[in-house]
Amino acid sequence: MRNVSRWVIGCGFVAALFAGDPARAQTASASAGAADPAIINNLVAANRILAAEGVLDGLGHVSIRHPGNPARYLMARSIAPALVTADDIMEYDLDSSPIEQRGRAMFRERFIHDEIYKARPDVRAVIHSHSPSVIPFSVSQAPMRPVFHSAAFLSPSVPVFEPRATAGMTDMLVGDRKLGKALADSLGEGSVALMRGHGNVVVGPSVQLAVWRAVYTEMNARLQLQAMQLGGPINYLAPEEAAKVNARTGPDADNVRRVWELWKQKAMVK
Ligand code: MN
Repeated sequence: MRNVSRWVIGCGFVAALFAGDPARAQTASASAGAADPAIINNLVAANRILAAEGVLDGLGHVSIRHPGNPARYLMARSIAPALVTADDIMEYDLDSSPIEQRGRAMFRERFIHDEIYKARPDVRAVIHSHSPSVIPFSVSQAPMRPVFHSAAFLSPSVPVFEPRATAGMTDMLVGDRKLGKALADSLGEGSVALMRGHGNVVVGPSVQLAVWRAVYTEMNARLQLQAMQLGGPINYLAPEEAAKVNARTGPDADNVRRVWELWKQKAMVK
Protein backbone atom coordinates (compact mmCIF):
# COMPACT_ATOMS: atom_id res chain seq x y z
CA MET A 1 0.00 0.00 0.00
CA ARG A 2 2.79 2.35 0.95
CA ASN A 3 4.67 1.59 -2.27
CA VAL A 4 1.54 2.12 -4.36
CA SER A 5 0.82 5.52 -2.84
CA ARG A 6 4.45 6.51 -3.31
CA TRP A 7 4.17 5.47 -6.97
CA VAL A 8 1.01 7.53 -7.40
CA ILE A 9 2.63 10.58 -5.79
CA GLY A 10 5.71 10.07 -7.96
CA CYS A 11 3.65 9.87 -11.14
CA GLY A 12 1.67 12.94 -10.16
CA PHE A 13 4.91 14.84 -9.61
CA VAL A 14 6.36 13.75 -12.96
CA ALA A 15 3.09 14.48 -14.74
CA ALA A 16 2.91 17.92 -13.20
CA LEU A 17 6.48 18.61 -14.36
CA PHE A 18 6.54 17.18 -17.85
CA ALA A 19 3.18 16.15 -19.28
CA GLY A 20 1.11 18.36 -21.53
CA ASP A 21 -2.13 17.66 -19.69
CA PRO A 22 -4.61 20.25 -18.36
CA ALA A 23 -3.55 19.62 -14.75
CA ARG A 24 -0.10 20.86 -15.63
CA ALA A 25 -1.44 24.11 -17.02
CA GLN A 26 -3.19 24.74 -13.71
CA THR A 27 -0.28 23.75 -11.46
CA ALA A 28 2.34 25.61 -13.53
CA SER A 29 0.79 28.99 -12.82
CA ALA A 30 0.00 28.41 -9.15
CA SER A 31 2.25 30.09 -6.64
CA ALA A 32 3.78 27.98 -3.89
CA GLY A 33 2.92 30.88 -1.60
CA ALA A 34 4.98 33.55 0.08
CA ALA A 35 8.24 32.25 1.54
CA ASP A 36 9.28 33.09 5.10
CA PRO A 37 10.84 36.61 5.07
CA ALA A 38 13.90 35.22 6.90
CA ILE A 39 14.50 32.83 4.00
CA ILE A 40 14.10 35.62 1.45
CA ASN A 41 16.50 37.68 3.54
CA ASN A 42 19.10 34.89 3.29
CA LEU A 43 18.72 34.85 -0.50
CA VAL A 44 19.22 38.63 -0.59
CA ALA A 45 22.26 38.20 1.69
CA ALA A 46 23.69 35.50 -0.60
CA ASN A 47 23.56 37.94 -3.53
CA ARG A 48 25.25 40.69 -1.52
CA ILE A 49 27.89 38.37 -0.04
CA LEU A 50 28.88 36.90 -3.39
CA ALA A 51 29.24 40.41 -4.81
CA ALA A 52 31.22 41.62 -1.77
CA GLU A 53 33.55 38.59 -1.85
CA GLY A 54 34.41 39.02 -5.55
CA VAL A 55 32.54 35.97 -6.87
CA LEU A 56 29.72 37.84 -8.63
CA ASP A 57 30.25 41.18 -10.36
CA GLY A 58 27.34 42.97 -12.05
CA LEU A 59 26.40 39.63 -13.60
CA GLY A 60 25.62 36.15 -12.32
CA HIS A 61 22.79 34.92 -10.14
CA VAL A 62 21.83 32.82 -7.14
CA SER A 63 18.62 30.91 -6.52
CA ILE A 64 17.08 28.81 -3.77
CA ARG A 65 14.55 26.02 -4.06
CA HIS A 66 11.19 27.20 -2.70
CA PRO A 67 10.92 25.94 0.91
CA GLY A 68 7.20 25.24 0.41
CA ASN A 69 7.34 23.43 -2.94
CA PRO A 70 10.33 21.56 -4.45
CA ALA A 71 8.98 22.25 -7.95
CA ARG A 72 9.49 26.00 -7.56
CA TYR A 73 12.57 28.14 -7.12
CA LEU A 74 13.20 31.74 -6.09
CA MET A 75 15.63 34.15 -7.78
CA ALA A 76 15.99 37.89 -8.30
CA ARG A 77 14.75 39.65 -11.41
CA SER A 78 17.53 40.61 -13.85
CA ILE A 79 19.53 43.01 -11.67
CA ALA A 80 23.13 43.26 -10.40
CA PRO A 81 23.53 41.00 -7.34
CA ALA A 82 24.86 43.79 -5.10
CA LEU A 83 21.59 45.72 -5.62
CA VAL A 84 19.14 42.88 -4.88
CA THR A 85 16.42 43.52 -2.28
CA ALA A 86 13.55 41.32 -1.09
CA ASP A 87 11.19 43.06 -3.54
CA ASP A 88 13.26 41.81 -6.49
CA ILE A 89 12.75 38.10 -5.74
CA MET A 90 10.63 36.21 -8.30
CA GLU A 91 9.15 32.71 -8.20
CA TYR A 92 9.74 30.26 -11.08
CA ASP A 93 8.49 26.80 -11.92
CA LEU A 94 10.88 24.08 -13.11
CA ASP A 95 10.44 25.15 -16.74
CA SER A 96 11.89 28.51 -15.58
CA SER A 97 8.57 30.16 -16.41
CA PRO A 98 7.77 32.99 -14.01
CA ILE A 99 4.73 32.48 -11.77
CA GLU A 100 3.97 36.19 -11.94
CA GLN A 101 6.28 38.18 -14.20
CA ARG A 102 4.64 41.61 -13.78
CA GLY A 103 6.85 43.07 -16.51
CA ARG A 104 10.09 42.25 -14.73
CA ALA A 105 13.20 41.36 -16.77
CA MET A 106 14.51 37.83 -16.28
CA PHE A 107 17.98 36.29 -16.47
CA ARG A 108 18.54 34.64 -19.84
CA GLU A 109 20.58 31.88 -18.18
CA ARG A 110 17.84 30.87 -15.74
CA PHE A 111 17.72 27.41 -17.38
CA ILE A 112 20.90 26.61 -15.44
CA HIS A 113 18.80 26.63 -12.29
CA ASP A 114 15.72 24.61 -13.26
CA GLU A 115 17.70 21.83 -14.93
CA ILE A 116 19.89 21.37 -11.85
CA TYR A 117 16.87 21.40 -9.51
CA LYS A 118 15.24 18.74 -11.70
CA ALA A 119 18.36 16.56 -11.82
CA ARG A 120 19.41 16.95 -8.18
CA PRO A 121 16.70 16.62 -5.50
CA ASP A 122 19.39 17.19 -2.84
CA VAL A 123 20.22 20.68 -4.14
CA ARG A 124 18.56 23.63 -2.41
CA ALA A 125 20.66 26.49 -3.82
CA VAL A 126 22.34 27.15 -7.18
CA ILE A 127 24.90 29.86 -7.96
CA HIS A 128 26.05 30.83 -11.44
CA SER A 129 29.03 33.18 -11.50
CA HIS A 130 31.86 34.45 -13.66
CA SER A 131 34.22 33.79 -10.73
CA PRO A 132 37.32 35.25 -12.41
CA SER A 133 40.09 33.05 -11.02
CA VAL A 134 38.47 29.81 -12.21
CA ILE A 135 38.49 30.89 -15.88
CA PRO A 136 42.13 29.81 -16.55
CA PHE A 137 41.26 26.32 -15.30
CA SER A 138 38.28 26.20 -17.68
CA VAL A 139 40.40 26.87 -20.79
CA SER A 140 43.63 24.98 -19.98
CA GLN A 141 44.51 21.37 -19.29
CA ALA A 142 45.18 22.00 -15.58
CA PRO A 143 42.32 20.51 -13.54
CA MET A 144 41.12 22.33 -10.44
CA ARG A 145 41.88 20.35 -7.30
CA PRO A 146 41.65 21.25 -3.60
CA VAL A 147 44.85 22.86 -2.28
CA PHE A 148 43.37 23.75 1.13
CA HIS A 149 40.86 22.28 3.51
CA SER A 150 38.04 24.79 2.98
CA ALA A 151 37.85 23.70 -0.67
CA ALA A 152 37.67 19.95 0.05
CA PHE A 153 34.30 19.84 -1.76
CA LEU A 154 36.29 20.12 -5.04
CA SER A 155 37.35 16.50 -4.53
CA PRO A 156 37.41 14.12 -6.31
CA SER A 157 37.25 16.16 -9.53
CA VAL A 158 35.86 19.35 -11.07
CA PRO A 159 34.29 18.84 -14.50
CA VAL A 160 34.47 21.46 -17.25
CA PHE A 161 31.27 22.04 -19.21
CA GLU A 162 31.89 22.44 -22.97
CA PRO A 163 28.89 24.00 -24.78
CA ARG A 164 30.36 23.12 -28.20
CA ALA A 165 29.79 19.43 -27.44
CA THR A 166 26.04 20.07 -27.19
CA ALA A 167 25.29 23.02 -29.47
CA GLY A 168 28.37 23.84 -31.56
CA MET A 169 29.25 27.52 -31.77
CA THR A 170 26.96 29.34 -29.34
CA ASP A 171 26.87 32.88 -27.92
CA MET A 172 28.34 31.23 -24.76
CA LEU A 173 25.16 31.67 -22.70
CA VAL A 174 23.16 28.79 -21.27
CA GLY A 175 20.08 30.30 -22.86
CA ASP A 176 17.88 27.24 -23.37
CA ARG A 177 16.84 24.00 -21.73
CA LYS A 178 19.09 21.83 -23.90
CA LEU A 179 22.21 23.63 -22.73
CA GLY A 180 20.92 23.77 -19.17
CA LYS A 181 20.45 20.02 -19.15
CA ALA A 182 23.91 19.43 -20.64
CA LEU A 183 25.39 21.59 -17.89
CA ALA A 184 23.46 19.68 -15.22
CA ASP A 185 24.77 16.43 -16.76
CA SER A 186 28.33 17.81 -16.56
CA LEU A 187 27.85 18.70 -12.91
CA GLY A 188 26.66 15.16 -12.15
CA GLU A 189 26.64 14.54 -8.39
CA GLY A 190 29.35 17.13 -7.74
CA SER A 191 29.32 20.56 -6.07
CA VAL A 192 31.04 22.61 -8.78
CA ALA A 193 31.30 22.54 -12.58
CA LEU A 194 33.43 25.01 -14.51
CA MET A 195 31.98 26.48 -17.71
CA ARG A 196 34.62 26.81 -20.41
CA GLY A 197 35.52 30.44 -21.12
CA HIS A 198 32.61 31.63 -18.96
CA GLY A 199 32.59 30.85 -15.21
CA ASN A 200 31.09 28.16 -13.06
CA VAL A 201 28.04 26.74 -11.37
CA VAL A 202 28.08 25.88 -7.67
CA VAL A 203 25.38 24.02 -5.74
CA GLY A 204 24.66 23.11 -2.14
CA PRO A 205 22.12 21.58 0.24
CA SER A 206 21.62 25.07 1.75
CA VAL A 207 22.22 28.59 0.49
CA GLN A 208 24.83 29.08 3.21
CA LEU A 209 26.86 26.07 2.08
CA ALA A 210 26.50 26.98 -1.60
CA VAL A 211 27.87 30.46 -0.82
CA TRP A 212 30.73 28.90 1.18
CA ARG A 213 31.59 26.69 -1.79
CA ALA A 214 31.41 29.53 -4.32
CA VAL A 215 33.71 31.77 -2.27
CA TYR A 216 36.22 29.00 -1.52
CA THR A 217 36.20 27.82 -5.15
CA GLU A 218 37.33 31.30 -6.19
CA MET A 219 39.96 31.32 -3.42
CA ASN A 220 41.20 27.82 -4.26
CA ALA A 221 41.70 28.84 -7.89
CA ARG A 222 43.95 31.72 -6.79
CA LEU A 223 45.91 29.57 -4.33
CA GLN A 224 46.30 26.69 -6.76
CA LEU A 225 47.66 29.03 -9.43
CA GLN A 226 50.15 30.43 -6.89
CA ALA A 227 51.26 26.91 -5.95
CA MET A 228 51.69 26.02 -9.63
CA GLN A 229 53.84 29.12 -10.15
CA LEU A 230 56.19 27.96 -7.38
CA GLY A 231 56.87 24.89 -9.53
CA GLY A 232 57.30 21.22 -8.74
CA PRO A 233 54.66 18.69 -7.77
CA ILE A 234 51.77 20.01 -5.69
CA ASN A 235 50.63 18.17 -2.60
CA TYR A 236 46.84 18.39 -2.99
CA LEU A 237 44.38 17.22 -0.37
CA ALA A 238 44.09 13.45 -0.65
CA PRO A 239 40.59 12.16 -1.53
CA GLU A 240 40.48 10.50 1.90
CA GLU A 241 41.29 13.79 3.63
CA ALA A 242 38.71 15.64 1.52
CA ALA A 243 36.05 13.07 2.41
CA LYS A 244 36.74 13.58 6.12
CA VAL A 245 36.56 17.38 5.77
CA ASN A 246 33.32 17.09 3.78
CA ALA A 247 31.81 14.84 6.46
CA ARG A 248 32.23 17.66 9.02
CA THR A 249 31.17 20.49 6.66
CA GLY A 250 27.43 19.94 6.21
CA PRO A 251 24.72 22.66 6.13
CA ASP A 252 24.55 22.74 9.94
CA ALA A 253 28.31 22.83 10.54
CA ASP A 254 29.57 25.42 13.01
CA ASN A 255 32.33 26.66 10.68
CA VAL A 256 29.80 27.31 7.87
CA ARG A 257 27.49 29.18 10.28
CA ARG A 258 30.33 31.28 11.68
CA VAL A 259 31.61 32.38 8.28
CA TRP A 260 28.07 33.03 6.97
CA GLU A 261 27.29 35.35 9.92
CA LEU A 262 30.46 37.33 9.30
CA TRP A 263 29.98 37.61 5.55
CA LYS A 264 26.31 38.49 5.96
CA GLN A 265 26.99 41.25 8.48
CA LYS A 266 29.70 42.76 6.27
CA ALA A 267 27.59 42.54 3.10
CA MET A 268 24.29 43.85 4.54
CA VAL A 269 25.54 47.04 6.25
CA LYS A 270 25.01 49.25 3.19
MN1 MN B 1 26.93 33.69 -17.33
